[in-house]
Amino acid sequence: MIKDKQRMEWLGLDEKKVGRRGFLKGGAATIGTGIGTFGVVRDNWIFDFKGSTAQAQETGNEQTLVPSQCPYCGVGCHTYHVVQNGKIVASVPDKDSSVNLGMQCIKGLTASEAIYVDRLDKVLVRKDMTNPLTGHESASKGRFDDDVWHETTWQEASKILVDMTVDIVEKFGGNAIATYGSGQLTMEEQWLENQFMKGVLQSNTIEANARMCMTSAVTGYIAALGSDHPPGCYEDIDTADMINFFGHNARGSHSVLFWRVIAEKEKRGIPTIVVDPRYTGTMDGFHQVNPSNSYNITIKPNGDISLVNALAYMLLTEFPEAIDGKFIADHTNGFESYREGILARYSPKQVIDRTGIAPDLVRQMARVWAEASIKGRERGEGGVTSFWGIGGWNQSIHGQHNVLTLINLHLLTGDIGRPGAGPFSMTGQPNAMSERLMGGLTGRLPFNEGMGNASHRDYIARAWGIPPERLAETAKQKNENYAIGMMERALDGDIKMIKFSYATHIDLPEVKTLVRPALKKAFVMVTESYRHAPNLLYADIVLPAATFGEKGGTYQNSERRIYVTDKAIDPPANTKPDLDIIITEGREVASRLGLDADKVFPYKKATEGPHKGKYDPEDVFRVILAASKGTSTDFSGLLEIEQRDG
Ligand code: SF4
Repeated sequence: MIKDKQRMEWLGLDEKKVGRRGFLKGGAATIGTGIGTFGVVRDNWIFDFKGSTAQAQETGNEQTLVPSQCPYCGVGCHTYHVVQNGKIVASVPDKDSSVNLGMQCIKGLTASEAIYVDRLDKVLVRKDMTNPLTGHESASKGRFDDDVWHETTWQEASKILVDMTVDIVEKFGGNAIATYGSGQLTMEEQWLENQFMKGVLQSNTIEANARMCMTSAVTGYIAALGSDHPPGCYEDIDTADMINFFGHNARGSHSVLFWRVIAEKEKRGIPTIVVDPRYTGTMDGFHQVNPSNSYNITIKPNGDISLVNALAYMLLTEFPEAIDGKFIADHTNGFESYREGILARYSPKQVIDRTGIAPDLVRQMARVWAEASIKGRERGEGGVTSFWGIGGWNQSIHGQHNVLTLINLHLLTGDIGRPGAGPFSMTGQPNAMSERLMGGLTGRLPFNEGMGNASHRDYIARAWGIPPERLAETAKQKNENYAIGMMERALDGDIKMIKFSYATHIDLPEVKTLVRPALKKAFVMVTESYRHAPNLLYADIVLPAATFGEKGGTYQNSERRIYVTDKAIDPPANTKPDLDIIITEGREVASRLGLDADKVFPYKKATEGPHKGKYDPEDVFRVILAASKGTSTDFSGLLEIEQRDG
């Protein structure tokens, strides 16, 4: 329930017309969002669930299915929690899902097992805390044994946290507080976290693990297409005439995606190119299906740009019929200088020392690319689809240019913006796309805009219920070098507090030489689900958090499909969802900093339903939808469906 009537009116939200689940089900019809109903029992997937249901009913242990999305990779497989006696006893794939087509890999099938291991259900405060206000540095950081903690209540921890936050803001400014968030948080939590950091604290130091995985893709898309909008979707696999993987062992990292592609290769005989320095499982799988049209290119490390540009050279010189002149004229600029550069410096012979790939093999690859591209253009669907991975393409000293080069190749033959064709980045996390869309990074705002865009900034300030001049001040705050720079600033004493939400510090580079020394100096708050997680080694306050299956919210997978993950079970006593943690702390801090907490966080705890006693993520989702209206990522149509269907 939302209680700021004025703001709700401005956002166009009308509580009276809102029906809870009907709203979400209506959304499914329009944008393909697969959404189910809490507590539905179904019997239509690939396993023999009927038998086990019948048995369960006989013994009185009825099982229910609760729809969700796998919490692991960016494929975003739709899954059902099987709930029995208040526990998730299995995770099974949704047979009707157009994402995973009834498949799920071993990670997804066993996802719920982690819920019941090493759970943390105590609020912990380090006895010897680092205190940046007095300059005291904890001597016990680096240990998380029982003797370093004082077990406390949520109230006491909240008081320490709020006092410390407000004191730091007043003494050093909000930008002295940093957050490292996550592509595992729900979209609603990401929205609130960014609102709290940039709107309430006026800190521009907000980073996330999405920075480490996807920055090259984001900046590549923005440089080439003007916006961080991956143009592909999984249905492209069904009509593509050729599918490629660049620096991407999809068989290991995104198994269901690989299975979809290999099924199409088997069925329709489509050629594939896989580029990787290693001979990978993906290559081996395609080779087994059809060695004659599987181009498994074991390239020299760092030869990526040279190989892609050598393909462009071959297309320009030997397969000119594949160049889509009309598309280039209508939709691109800078073609002449691109062409000149390619022809001058990227013949396969010129770059063989960098790629290690014989010119004749490059010619064969260019030929199949040209054939697929022409086929797609003639049919009006199909052509070339290229996926790329994180470690093998984005995470490189020239990652952005890897991405840009590949997008340029697609632009050259017009293989973009048509069903079955396009460049397509895969994310590592289930909700990294929301982290990007919600702007939970330094200098970014929700809906794919930067903080330098004054009119959008003012618009978001209104949606967040804060004065626009406040957000304008935040925009002036610097966080150079982003996630790494934030740790460097902490080591220099410029950052006083760091928060980790659903994220770990061990995925950052230079953990021993930079990150951990920095975390010793700063006051560190973590929300954490596991008692022995590495985050506890350097935490001053640990708040026990609910996890996957224990809370609700929405996720966006790599193709930007929004999916509801329903709450299936109650979290352990004394744990809370991050959504509740952010709103509770946010309201306190907002009041102490002179803001109207009811206006900034206009949410009331649910009095009924699965979120009874907690904040309802649906209320936040509605605010996000309404705020998206008129932006480049307008998905407010879901609200119209809600209002139409009641
Ligand atoms: S492919 Fe990814 S999303 Fe699907 S079940 Fe496996 S880990 Fe989960």
